[in-house]
Amino acid sequence: MSNTPSQPDASAKITHTDSEWREKLSPEQYRVLREKGTERPFTGALTENHETGNYHCAGCGALLFLSGAKFDSGCGWPSFVIPADSRAIDEHEDNTFGMRRVEVTCARCGGHLGHVFPDGPRPTGLRYCINSASLTFTHEKDAEK
Ligand code: FE
Repeated sequence: MSNTPSQPDASAKITHTDSEWREKLSPEQYRVLREKGTERPFTGALTENHETGNYHCAGCGALLFLSGAKFDSGCGWPSFVIPADSRAIDEHEDNTFGMRRVEVTCARCGGHLGHVFPDGPRPTGLRYCINSASLTFTHEKDAEK
C-alpha cells in the first residue's frame, strides 16, 4: 500500500471507541457529535462565518459542506442548502422530543451534525441546520496548499 497524503477515501468508515472519541474531541464536540447534543443557538464559532472555504467534519475531517452553499438562515446555526456530496452525509428519521425531524450524520464517522428542514431557500428548498461544534473550517487558500 502506498502512503499518499491525499484526501482520505470517502467511503472508508471511521470508528473509534468511546474513550478514543473523548480524547480526540473537546467536551462540546463530544456532546454534539457523539451524544447528539445541540449547541445553544447563536453561540457557534462558524454560524456567522462568511469566508470562502470548506467545512469539514470535526470528528473525522471528511469534507461536508462548501461555503457557496451557506446562507444566513437567522436560526442561530450554520445553514447550508446542500452538502458538498450527497454521499458525505446520512439522513435518518428522528422522532425525539415529540418532533418529526430528519437527523443528519457524517457518513464516515457517524457523528451527529444536525438536522435538515424543508424550509430553505432555492434552489433546493432545504436548510441543513448544522452545529458549529460538528464542523471545522478551512479557508480556500489554505485548502489549495
Ligand atoms: Fe465525520
